[in-house]
Amino acid sequence: MQASESVTLWQAQGRILAETVCAPLDVPPHRNSAMDGYALRYADLASEKPLHLVGASFAGRPFAGEVQPGECVRIMTGAVVPDGTDSVVMQENVQRDGDHIRITSSLMHGENVRHPGEDMRTGDTVLDAGRKLNAADLGLLASLGISDAKVLRRPRVAFCSTGDELKSIGEPLQPGDIYDSNRYTLYGLLQNLDVEIIDLGVVRDTPEAVEHAFQQAMQQADVFITSGGASVGEADYVTSTLERLGQVNFWKIAMKPGKPLAFGTLGECVFFGLPGNPVSVMATFMLFVRPAILRLRGESLPTVPEYTALCTTPLKKVPGRTDYQRGICERDAQGQWQVRSTGGQGSHILRSMSQANCFIALPREMGNLEAGATVTIIPFEGFL
Ligand code: AMP
Ligand code: MG
Repeated sequence: MQASESVTLWQAQGRILAETVCAPLDVPPHRNSAMDGYALRYADLASEKPLHLVGASFAGRPFAGEVQPGECVRIMTGAVVPDGTDSVVMQENVQRDGDHIRITSSLMHGENVRHPGEDMRTGDTVLDAGRKLNAADLGLLASLGISDAKVLRRPRVAFCSTGDELKSIGEPLQPGDIYDSNRYTLYGLLQNLDVEIIDLGVVRDTPEAVEHAFQQAMQQADVFITSGGASVGEADYVTSTLERLGQVNFWKIAMKPGKPLAFGTLGECVFFGLPGNPVSVMATFMLFVRPAILRLRGESLPTVPEYTALCTTPLKKVPGRTDYQRGICERDAQGQWQVRSTGGQGSHILRSMSQANCFIALPREMGNLEAGATVTIIPFEGFL
């Protein structure tokens, strides 16, 4: 059982309900009017005599007393329908003369009267455990007078960048240095997932520094994400550290970009060793890390949405790995999806990722593509 916590409705948007919610009261709680008009006894209409106006019922200020035969009450939308009355005629269908009214069109018995519990009845199950709360749900809970929701605890996700060449923004670049961009990208991607984020900073390329980061993550986090140092270079210590402190479940996959991806566990903590190249970080995050975190959050297994589009540019592709090329998709005048390449597809070209609004997913065995081919696209909507 995943740990849960209680949050106020103000903090509950997007959280996962830990328990089923039943209605503690009827909504609406009382019989009320759907219109501004007059509440009356339907049986009185048979005689066609004018009805005597004896008072008013406003929303939040009910009419006190019982309406007698031959009488009616002025009523506003949401106001309690007074005892003795059973129908409401809208004011547009009434001729008023001092304290008497006459109905100018036909009315049905019970018309314009909303009944207690018509929306939700006391005891009804209104939201199931596991539900991801949305804005409509927040209003629904509020209408039931419920101020707090019991929700699943958010996963704690620690992340760091590895690399001796990385400088944080604000620091001057020495020869051979670059600015660390992956941490900012990862931070943004994680913010979209509504998790607790633990930034472990930039980690140097030494076995000791990498091990220290792993230890910190294992103590605090449910998920640990590194970028860089997962390949087979001489300064790549991520996978060997994972092997020593936990377990490697897989390392290296047949996708481009993202080949060096490592996945494993560190005790209770789930580990993702992402490649260092910025585009690889985003591709592996979208396809592997994001679904795993959503699942850990208690959401049902998310599917990555795929669509078909006509590709208007030729694409270069070497058989052997599944490619996730960067594309710009849009609908043509006929409503059909079209996609074009962003150009240079190197996994270090961050700009292509920024320009793109979708991946073009090309199957493993496919080679070069001519313009006009039908391809699969994965939109970035809601992901970046
Ligand atoms: P690595 O996987 O560590 O071999 O890194 C692959 C490439 O990604 C190298 O060119 C690195 O300089 C670059 N890289 C690694 N980490 C980052 C980062 N945090 N920000 C930007 N580029 C990075
Ligand atoms: Mg490196």
